[in-house]
Amino acid sequence: MNANEMYEYVERIANLIRTSVRKTGLASGLQPVQMEALHYLSRCNRYSNTPVAVAEFLGLTKGTVSQTLGVLETNGLVKKETDSRDRRVVHLHLTHEGEDVLQSSIPPTVLNSALTVLPEGERVQMERSIERLLLSLQRANGLKTFGPCRTCVHHQHLGGAERRCGLTREMLSDGDAQKICREHLPPP
Ligand code: SF4
Repeated sequence: MNANEMYEYVERIANLIRTSVRKTGLASGLQPVQMEALHYLSRCNRYSNTPVAVAEFLGLTKGTVSQTLGVLETNGLVKKETDSRDRRVVHLHLTHEGEDVLQSSIPPTVLNSALTVLPEGERVQMERSIERLLLSLQRANGLKTFGPCRTCVHHQHLGGAERRCGLTREMLSDGDAQKICREHLPPP
């Protein structure tokens, strides 16, 4: 497949998914960018739930992110917490209401139903190809990967269920291993 065809397919798929998320978001009074920020915060780890990381992940300016997070906070969907070691840093956590909004919207029904008609083998193959394409795009553009912690070069298995981040030297839980991270570094 050439880049033109790929662009057309990806663009149309992204539009369909975005339209579906927009519809469900509007039912909760949220704009697509607010849904995207909420979704990011639901799956990032404790090093990545800051306004700066949200801006990096979504490719937005600090001003836009500040407005977006303000709306989420006013609507009771996220709450702020000051970092215990650095009072200048603020962490953002989803409230139960925020989790409820996401549960009814993501993944979008349109994508779920489309995937269920594909054979399991095809879905797995497609997921791998899309993952590689995303990594390649991020590398080519010098962007952070924001990948899942378990796939990071700093992720250390210490035996049994024990895990540690080689960068921060802090222990990680099984749940942490699944989350995405701003400091994620994929294997070469
Ligand atoms: S191991 Fe990598 S992805 Fe996991 S917390 Fe550390 S830097 Fe982040």
